[in-house]
Amino acid sequence: PMPGLDPAGATPMMAQYIEIKAANPDCLLFYRMGDFYELFFEDAEIASRALGIVLTKRGKHAGSEIPMCGVPVDRSDDYLNRLIALGHRVAVCEQTEDPAEAKKRGPKSVVRREVVRLVTPGTITEDRLLDPARANLLLAIGRRKTGEGAVAYGLAAVDISTGRFSLSEVAGGDLSGAIARHDPREIVLSEAIHADPALARIWQESRAAIVPLAQAELEPAAAERRLREQYGVSTLEGFGQFTRAEIAAAGAALLYIARTQLAARPPLSVPTREDGGATLAIDAATRANLELTRTLSGERTGSLLATIDRTVTANGARLLAEHLAGPLTHLDAITRRHAAVAHLVEDGRLRGSLRDALARAPDLARALSRTGLGRAGPRDLAAIRDGLAVAADLGARLAAIPDLPEDLARLAEHLAEANPDLIATLAAALADDLPLSRRDGGFVRAGYHPEIDEARTLGQDSRKVIAALQARYAEQTGCRTLRIKHNNLLGFFIEVPQSVGEACLKGLQSEFVHRQTMVDAMRFTSVELGELESKISGASDRALALEAAVFDDLAARVLAQAEAIAEVAEALAGLDVAASHAELAVELDWRRPVVDESLSFVVVGGRHPVVEAALRRAGEPFIANDCDLSGDTRGRIRLITGPNMGGKSTFLRQNALIAVLAQMGAFVPAADARIGRVDRLFSRVGAADDLARGQSTFMVEMVETAAILNQATRRSLVILDEIGRGTATFDGLSIAWACLEHLHEVNACRALFATHFHELTALGDRLARLDNATLKVAEHRDGVVFLHEVVPGVAERSYGLQVARLAGLPGSVVTRAGAILKSLEKAEMGRPARARIDDLPLFAALAPPPPPEPPQEDPLGALLDAIDPDALTPREALDALYRLKRER
Ligand code: ADP
Repeated sequence: PMPGLDPAGATPMMAQYIEIKAANPDCLLFYRMGDFYELFFEDAEIASRALGIVLTKRGKHAGSEIPMCGVPVDRSDDYLNRLIALGHRVAVCEQTEDPAEAKKRGPKSVVRREVVRLVTPGTITEDRLLDPARANLLLAIGRRKTGEGAVAYGLAAVDISTGRFSLSEVAGGDLSGAIARHDPREIVLSEAIHADPALARIWQESRAAIVPLAQAELEPAAAERRLREQYGVSTLEGFGQFTRAEIAAAGAALLYIARTQLAARPPLSVPTREDGGATLAIDAATRANLELTRTLSGERTGSLLATIDRTVTANGARLLAEHLAGPLTHLDAITRRHAAVAHLVEDGRLRGSLRDALARAPDLARALSRTGLGRAGPRDLAAIRDGLAVAADLGARLAAIPDLPEDLARLAEHLAEANPDLIATLAAALADDLPLSRRDGGFVRAGYHPEIDEARTLGQDSRKVIAALQARYAEQTGCRTLRIKHNNLLGFFIEVPQSVGEACLKGLQSEFVHRQTMVDAMRFTSVELGELESKISGASDRALALEAAVFDDLAARVLAQAEAIAEVAEALAGLDVAASHAELAVELDWRRPVVDESLSFVVVGGRHPVVEAALRRAGEPFIANDCDLSGDTRGRIRLITGPNMGGKSTFLRQNALIAVLAQMGAFVPAADARIGRVDRLFSRVGAADDLARGQSTFMVEMVETAAILNQATRRSLVILDEIGRGTATFDGLSIAWACLEHLHEVNACRALFATHFHELTALGDRLARLDNATLKVAEHRDGVVFLHEVVPGVAERSYGLQVARLAGLPGSVVTRAGAILKSLEKAEMGRPARARIDDLPLFAALAPPPPPEPPQEDPLGALLDAIDPDALTPREALDALYRLKRER
């Protein structure tokens, strides 16, 4: 960033700056000067632009002026937040000695300064910089060869703000899905992985800051050593078996944490190893398309997560997001979660009282982590006190209930780990009103520490002592206007107005030392006042020092139980999530699904939770629909045709969402649901007329479709919406056709396929497990009403003109288009769609099916085939008509 900054010829301070900056080239340097962090040179230009703050100058370097801007220390959090959000990294450089010390070394010497911390998106811990409802993950990636040309990736996911640390390994093809699931703020990886051209798209599409590290720093032996050091163990065996890729990832994560936190070490949980097959595989495109945790435009509002979130704690909200991002595949675990929710659905009083109590629990996990990093304030200790107290209370309440479902019983056990002694100590030690910073003092409760009380009494008594002294001096000197005041220069002093009488003045001068003559007053000091001064300031210094010691003692007691507290925090979150699901189920009449080992997929009366919520706000009903894709040894495919706006996409997505909800352990928006465990979920939408994204959309659509056809198993659920729409009609039809055949014959999965190629419905006769369904439409005089009801069969018409009318196309255009359509349809009559389809050989699994040839001998027919009335603008329709005329 700043090449060629030469310390030679710089002022001593600038030389120090340049040296520190050179050691942190990839960060903006916040250089502490008094009450400000200052930025210089290019950093200043970047920050002033990013933050909209004034760019000034300070002195010269190498003949040109030095740009500078600054942010006040007490408001630096806000500025940091904005810089981090923009993807910058910031090195915070503090003064690490008293300026008086520096002066002693010589008049020109500079205060010693050191970078105490690097602030990066994935390593922040301050509440003001963090989203309470979202984990703040740092994801480190390692890699190993698993065979000829095959690799696996190790992932270390660390949330320093809560201490959570998990390791997992995924096959090469699943890397992008795994990254999307973790949704990290920052990704750390080797330069080699970063430079791999096959992965370039993943880094581009991730929303994370990417940090490549040099290979030399990532030696396997060093990675192991770092892990052993972090946990103070001589071997990793006690933690279970990790692969080399996982250890490499863990090592990279720890290296990066050490680099950014410098001396501080966050208390990390022992890394848990996630079994790769334990979560439902959902790739990045499917996540985006189903709007699981955020909408297509990137917001939380309007996502499935926002719609189902009834949690009352930040920790619970984060766990809910994690469960939604990684639904389960193990039946036991899923069923246990359902049982816990069911219990809380049935016992409304318990649910209500749990939620009331939880709502009072502060963010235990983040307070604990800050304590471990030495960044905690008194309010963090109070948060730990209150969180533990709520947990102890809830644990006792749950323990008294007989026959609790397993998950709730386990949570109750963890809650019981909240140590009553620690709660009592914190309650006794902390005052009611707490300052933000420990440096401010005043947080220790009166009565907790006798010496602190004594020192404080002295400070409080000083007012009385001074008042008494003032009265005595006035008496002594006979000067009734005498006052005792205080300022930083003189400390305590005596002040009398100039107008005071001769006699008084004599008395004053004989008793006290004259210090200052002002325009209208005279000031004196006395030995007595000097002594009082040092006693009082000594007392408050002493009180502060004693309070600091109390703080350290409390923090040490908390950290001694860090592991138990982290478990309590997890348990509170788990309880909050179960109660949230139950609350939602009661509120919206969601039902407990059955997830089993079959290949069933039966949803009765299913609804789309997000669309339904939107319609509810508008006071409109949502039409529930059934869906059956059950097979015995292979799944079924349902092909859905119907008018635009009929509800095809909604129907497709709601079934995918119901599977996700069921497997994350929630109840589902349906009257009944029975779902054979899904191993992978895929959802794609054909590239629409999305001009903004450029011509590559069709390519993207095909790449993504290829991934599905290559990866979907019999256990998978596939949702394809308008595949093939992004290209010319014939190409599109043949691609959609071939995809359907492949899904049916090779993948043999459960699938929903929406299309506007009505020709495809003829496949229903030829593919045994393919059913046709359509969305019902009621026609009247000159319009249509979409009933949003899914019924067996084939759409009779596409109702493009009716939709166009509903959309407000001028009546004359709609009428004209109707006339054009009639003549087009008449021409089409001669060659029914069925005839063309019957010409095609049935798909053979091994040989790719030949694309359907447009009939060569009939150019007019070919032209007609190429026309999709639904997709035409009126202008295009007119053009098409002219072309047809010409051809004749
Ligand atoms: P398509 O994919 O067929 O074009 P959509 O699924 O996008 O249609 O649905 C269009 C609109 O119709 C939705 O935005 C919603 O307002 C409404 N809709 C869809 N399904 C239903 C339903 N089951 N009940 C009520 N309204 C629905």
